[in-house]
Amino acid sequence: MQLAKSLQAIKPSYIREILSVANSADVISLAGGLPDGDHFPLALMEQSILQLSSRAELFQYGNTAGYAPLLAYFHECYQLSDAQDALVCTGSQQGLDLIARAFLDAGDKVVMEAPSYLGALQVFGLAQASIESIQQREDGPDLQELEQCFANKTIKMFYAVPDFHNPTGVCWSLDVRKKVAQLCQQYNVALIEDAPYRELRFSGTELPLVSSFCPEHAIVLRSYSKIATPGIRLGLASGPKAWISALERVKQGADLHSSQPMQAVLLDLLQHADFPKHLDGLRQLYRQRYQYLADLLTAQLPANCQFESVEGGMFIWLSLPVGCHVDRLAKDMLEVGVAVVPSSVFYQSAEGTKPAFRLNFTNACDSDLALAVSRLVQVLASVK
Ligand code: PMP
Repeated sequence: MQLAKSLQAIKPSYIREILSVANSADVISLAGGLPDGDHFPLALMEQSILQLSSRAELFQYGNTAGYAPLLAYFHECYQLSDAQDALVCTGSQQGLDLIARAFLDAGDKVVMEAPSYLGALQVFGLAQASIESIQQREDGPDLQELEQCFANKTIKMFYAVPDFHNPTGVCWSLDVRKKVAQLCQQYNVALIEDAPYRELRFSGTELPLVSSFCPEHAIVLRSYSKIATPGIRLGLASGPKAWISALERVKQGADLHSSQPMQAVLLDLLQHADFPKHLDGLRQLYRQRYQYLADLLTAQLPANCQFESVEGGMFIWLSLPVGCHVDRLAKDMLEVGVAVVPSSVFYQSAEGTKPAFRLNFTNACDSDLALAVSRLVQVLASVK
C-alpha cells in the first residue's frame, strides 16, 4: 500500500536507529532521553497497583476527558480558572498530536525555536504545517526575530519548551517569558507550552509558566513520564475551555480515553505522603549526575568544544566548531562505544544547523559517565 504523502516526507527517527545500536552491551548510551529506571517510584505505587484487581469499575470504558478524581486533583493542584479545562492524554506527546489535528491545516505556520524537540518536528511534519524556525539564545528565543516573524507572517501557534529545553537544556529568563506572552497576545498567536521537565529543576529559582502571563492564549502540556514513569503513558493538556473541548473531540477518534487503571495509580502516587520526598531525591540524583558529567567535560574537552551549564532537565548541549560533520562524528563515537545524538536531527532544515551533540545525564551511573567522556574525548581530539 502506498504511504500517505504526509508520511513520505517524514524521515525515520535517527534517535530510534541510534538507540537500537546503543542497547548493545559494549556501548554506553547518552543518546536517549530516559529517566533513571532504578529510581522509578514503584514502591510508592505498589499498594495502589495491588488494589487494582478489586476496582473493576476502572477497567470499564471511561470518560474521554479523564478519570474524574484525577481531573479534580489537577484542577486544584494547577489552580485552573473557571475559563480553563484539562484533558488527560496518553503521554504529553499525544497532547501535541491532538493539538496539531485539532488546529492545523496543511500549510499553517507554526513557530518553533531551533533546535527543536524531535517529537514536535515529527507531529508538525505529519500535519504538513509550515515550520518557521527562530534561533534560540542562552535565555530563550531571539525576541527580535520572533517579533518580526509574528508581525510579518500569519502565525497560528508558537510551540515552546521554556523549562530545560530538549535538546539544549535552555531555561527561559523571566523577562523573555513576559515578552513572549505579550507578543502572543499582541499578535494573536496561540502558545503551546510543553513542560515535561518543569519539575526537574535541581538548582536556581523556579520561574512562572509563560502561559501564566497569557492564560487565554495558551495550552500547557504536562508529562508524568519523568516524575512518575514513562510506561504509564500519561500527560495533561490544559487551557481555554473551547480549545480543550476541541482536543477532546479529536481524542474520541484517537483512543477514546487514556488507561483508567493507570490514571487511578497516578492519582494515588501524586497524593502519596512520600511523593514530595521521591521528587526531591530525583532532583538530587540528577543534580549530582549533571555535576559529575559537567566536571568531567570541563576537565577533558578540547578548547574548541563548549557547553552551557543547565539548572535542570536531562540534557547537556555540547557545541562543536562550525563546519564539523556531526553525523559522521556520532558514528565514529558509536564505533568507540558511546552513543550521542547529533544536532542535525533537531533542525527542520540543514540551513542554520549548528554542530553539537545532545548528551543525556539522567540514565547512566558515574562510572559509565566517566567512561563515556573518555570515549567522546578520544573522537573529539580529531576535531579541528
Ligand atoms: N515534549 C518534550 C519536549 C519531550 O522531551 C518529550 C519526551 N521526552 C515529550 C514531550 C513526550 O513526553 P511523554 O512521555 O509525556 O509523551
